Amino acid sequence: MSTNVSYTANEAVSKLKKGNLNYISANRNDGDVSSAVRLKTCVEGQKPYAIIITCSDSRVIPESIFSAGIGDLFVIRVAGNVIDNHQLGSIEYAAEHLGCRLILVMGHNHCGQWMP
Ligand SMILES: [Zn+2]
Repeated sequence: MSTNVSYTANEAVSKLKKGNLNYISANRNDGDVSSAVRLKTCVEGQKPYAIIITCSDSRVIPESIFSAGIGDLFVIRVAGNVIDNHQLGSIEYAAEHLGCRLILVMGHNHCGQWMP
């Protein structure tokens, strides 16, 4: 359970890389989505270790890609992976109020592509 723990940016990068290795090798999500972590984050609040800015594309699933659970990531998703004032305000909130020290902008291949 990683909620309510402060991470440095380097620690957050290591955690994301480890989660991504799990995702690539296991094809499953090992993030904690238990009732215990749901209750803990409800009562004690959230302390995500990274802000993820990515596309709304249904093939891009940050929590799965990084094997993250409830309270781990602060995810901002917008089609085309762009940032305007609304997204910037969310980033500032997560950095200032939730203590996130890492912002990851995650692109992907074939953005907007559909297959007939
Ligand atoms: Zn996209």
